[in-house]
Amino acid sequence: MFHYLNDGRFAATSVWVDIKEKSGDVTMLKKQPVEVSRGDISNPFMEVQEQIDAICEKANVSDTCRLRLRECERELIVHFPVKMDNGKIYVFTGYRIQHNDTRGPSKGGIRYHPDITLDETRALAVLMTLKAAVVNIPYGGAKGAVACNPKLMSQDELERLTRRYTSEISMLIGPERDIPAPDLGTNPQVMAWIMDTYSMNKGYSVLGVVTGKPIELGGSLGRFEATGRGCMISTQLASKHLGIPLNAASVAVQGFGNVGATAAKLLSKDGSRITGISDSKGGIYNPNGLDVQKVARHKKETGSVINFKDAENITNTELLELECDILIPAAIENQIHKMNASSVKAKMIVEGANGPTTYEAAKVLRDKGIFVVPDILANAGGLVVSYFEWVQDLQSFFWSEEEVNNQLRRVMDNAFHEVLEISQRHKVDMRDAAYILAIKRIADTMRVRGIFP
Ligand code: NAD
Repeated sequence: MFHYLNDGRFAATSVWVDIKEKSGDVTMLKKQPVEVSRGDISNPFMEVQEQIDAICEKANVSDTCRLRLRECERELIVHFPVKMDNGKIYVFTGYRIQHNDTRGPSKGGIRYHPDITLDETRALAVLMTLKAAVVNIPYGGAKGAVACNPKLMSQDELERLTRRYTSEISMLIGPERDIPAPDLGTNPQVMAWIMDTYSMNKGYSVLGVVTGKPIELGGSLGRFEATGRGCMISTQLASKHLGIPLNAASVAVQGFGNVGATAAKLLSKDGSRITGISDSKGGIYNPNGLDVQKVARHKKETGSVINFKDAENITNTELLELECDILIPAAIENQIHKMNASSVKAKMIVEGANGPTTYEAAKVLRDKGIFVVPDILANAGGLVVSYFEWVQDLQSFFWSEEEVNNQLRRVMDNAFHEVLEISQRHKVDMRDAAYILAIKRIADTMRVRGIFP
């Protein structure tokens, strides 16, 4: 986790890494801060602005479009009180950022995390605009966040926080305007509270105001697994392109939550050997393959994947550097950075998390010839099925899981091949190609819409 200085516009000074400590026969995994030089890991919003500048130049996109995409259209910062279980009142800070709604209503998750900053939320909102455009879904991008630690809060406290935050941002959200969804630290229950709070204020039930809801509240079948399934589809398409047979491939997955665990389960079902898995407490490794279902049960029982009996404990750093065919970083951002990128040995990386690779590291991976399916394509499955959920809610007509999964595959397949075609035509990597496709799509829509007034 990176700690940004001042208002977050400057480079980080430390990064937390796992270390191993041996005491007799027991190996302990601990976290230790490591100093990094300024300029190695920069501010995420400035990084994404730099990428937009570079791509607009490469793709010959108008300066008006570039200047509009560099900034977020609407930014709301809220500071609001919540009564805690001990009777004390805490004041929390939250954000809702709408980056660009040229192609449709804004869409983006809500993150509950202690280290979230305004600039990180802005960067994530930009990624949502680009992601929707890559997979050709008629949405703009948004992101919301509250700086809090949900792991240290009771369900009652989380409910009060969610309901108050929803009221604070209700001037921006709505089924035609801006539709939140789950992200790190939030889940279907949080979405249900948002839907209920918004509906209470309207006086009638508004199913389409959030996606990622429980099934009994207008949620879509297949939504929970959609991001991991999208990663699995991207992995299948990329391995076919590279000629790596998936049923003989070794895969390392960082993060064993919604995205990582689903991708690992589906790939293992498809015949791949999942040799490494990690979570925030550390990782495990077995070169012969891990039984993913058993690892999931072990995590449920013990709270972590570490100390799984059929594997060796490793650090998160070691997991990223494992000898494997496919690496799926599906935890948090900035995990592959300038300091470790040159040690990555995977032949391909499928970015399940948002922004797991820093800008500098992306250049190193490109020079090493590692094929990267970038986040705005690889993890777009959740957004796609969120869109399906919204469509079903608006029509009050619900699809079967098979229909959802088939439509998801169709959308991911089209997007992957469009990005691949651009990458080959422009002789750029998949990340630049995805940005080119997205930005050109948005620029075309901006041009036909014109500028008001
Ligand atoms: P989650 O909270 O369900 O799981 C996160 C996992 O990452 C957990 O296993 C956690 O222990 C692990 N983790 C956290 N910090 C870590 C660290 N420093 N090192 C290693 N592991 C760590 O979250 P999720 O929904 O699976 O999301 C994971 C990533 O995917 C995030 O970047 C999120 O923005 C992105 N994403 C999620 C969705 C979705 O639909 N859930 C959609 C698009 C993108």
